[in-house]
Amino acid sequence: MSANGAASAAPVTWLEAWARPEGGARVREAFRARFGTEPDGVWSAPGRVNVIGEHTDYNGGLCMPMALPHRTYVALRRREDDTVRLASAQEAAGGVWTRRLADVAPGTVEGWAGYVVGVAWALAQAAHPVPGFDAVVDSCVPYGAGLSSSAALESAFAVALDEVAGIGLAGDDAGRAALAQACIRAENEIAGAMTGGMDQTASLRCRAGHALVLDTRDGSTRHFPFDLAAHGLALLVIDTRAPHQLADGQYAARRATCEAAARTLGVATLRDVGDLEAALALLDDEVARRGVRHVVTEIARVELVEQLLAAGDVDAVGPVLTAAHASLRDDYEVSCPELDLAVDTAILAGALGARMVGGGFGGSAVALVRTDAVGHVAEAVSAAFAAAGRTAPAFLVATPDGPAARD
Ligand code: ADP
Ligand code: MG
Repeated sequence: MSANGAASAAPVTWLEAWARPEGGARVREAFRARFGTEPDGVWSAPGRVNVIGEHTDYNGGLCMPMALPHRTYVALRRREDDTVRLASAQEAAGGVWTRRLADVAPGTVEGWAGYVVGVAWALAQAAHPVPGFDAVVDSCVPYGAGLSSSAALESAFAVALDEVAGIGLAGDDAGRAALAQACIRAENEIAGAMTGGMDQTASLRCRAGHALVLDTRDGSTRHFPFDLAAHGLALLVIDTRAPHQLADGQYAARRATCEAAARTLGVATLRDVGDLEAALALLDDEVARRGVRHVVTEIARVELVEQLLAAGDVDAVGPVLTAAHASLRDDYEVSCPELDLAVDTAILAGALGARMVGGGFGGSAVALVRTDAVGHVAEAVSAAFAAAGRTAPAFLVATPDGPAARD
C-alpha cells in the first residue's frame, strides 16, 4: 500500500520472444565458440499454448493448440562417427554432454540430453538411422511453464536430424506426423516423461496465423485462421512460475484412472463415450466418475470453441475457457492456488474468460482479454500475486507462429 492507501502497482514482467534472425545468430555464435567450426545449419521449433482441450490427448480426444513465437534454436553439425556432443545455454552448468548413439537405450540417459538423443534413437527405431552430431541449444521458451519447452527441444532436433541424415520426412504433413511420433517416443521412452502427443504435433504440424484442432483418435488435424486481434481480443498467457510439484505422479494417476474407466465402460478410449450420464451410472468410484466427466465435457468444449470461432462469435469463447477451468479444478483436480489466483484475478479485472493450461499443478494460465485491457489485466494479476506473497508471474501475448523448420 502507498501512503494514500492505493495498492502500489506491481511491476509486470513480459516474456519476450526473440526475432528468428536473433535466435539463429545467437545459437550459431554459441556453436562456433563451443566447437570452433561452423554448424551445418540452424533449426528452430516453437513452444505451444493450448487454447482448449486439456488432458484429452491421451483419451483419444480433441485439443486446440497453437504455436508460440517463443522458439528453441539448435545449431547442429553432422559427424562422421556416432558420437553426440551437446550443450545448452539453459543447462550451462552441465558443460558438454557426450555419448555414443549406440549406447542410447531406455533407462540409460539422465537429464535434458534424453530429449535430444531420444529423437535420434526413435528415428533409428523407425528405420531412419542418424549419424552422430555436435549441437548447441538456446531457447526463449520458458522451462516447465506448461508451454512445452520439451517438445520444442525435440522438434527442433527432429527437423535438424531429418535434414542432415537425408531422411526427408519434414517436407510434408504425413512425414511431420512421423517425426512427431519419434519425438513422443523420445520423451516417453528415453527422457522418461509421460506425454500425450499434442505438444509435438503442435510444434511440428502447426501453421503460422492458425490454430490447430488435433483429433488424437486418428491423428488428423484441422487448421483454421486464428486472428484474435481482428476481433479486438488477445490471448494473454500468464506463467505463474509455480513449480510443477507432484505433476508427474499425478499425471500418471489421472491417466491410469481414465484408462481403467474406459475398460470398465468397454470403450477403447473415453472419446468413445457417447452418453455421459449413462457412463457415469456405470462407474462406482467417485474419482473415476469425475475424471470421465472432465474428459467428456472437455472434448465437447473443444467442439464448441471451434464452432464459435468459425461463426466469428469470439467473445463467447471466454465463458467456455472459464468452464474448462472449473472442470480442471473441481472434477479433474489438477489446479493449484497460483493457477486459481491467476484465473480468478484475470476475470475480476475484466478478462472474458480464463483457465489453467498444460498438465496442471503449476505452469501457465490463459485469459481471453480485450486488446486494450491486456496491460490492466497483467497488472492486476501481478499485484494479486505480490499481495499473496507469491513469486512474480510473467506474461506473453500468444500469436500463432509457424512450425519447426530450418532458419
Ligand atoms: P515444459 O515442456 O512444460 O516446458 P517439461 O518438464 O515437459 O516442461 O520439460 C522441461 C524439460 O525439458 C527441462 O527440464 C529440460 O530437461 C528440457 N528442456 C527444455 N528446453 C530445454 C533447453 N533449451 N535446453 C536444455 N533442456 C531443455
Ligand atoms: Mg513438456
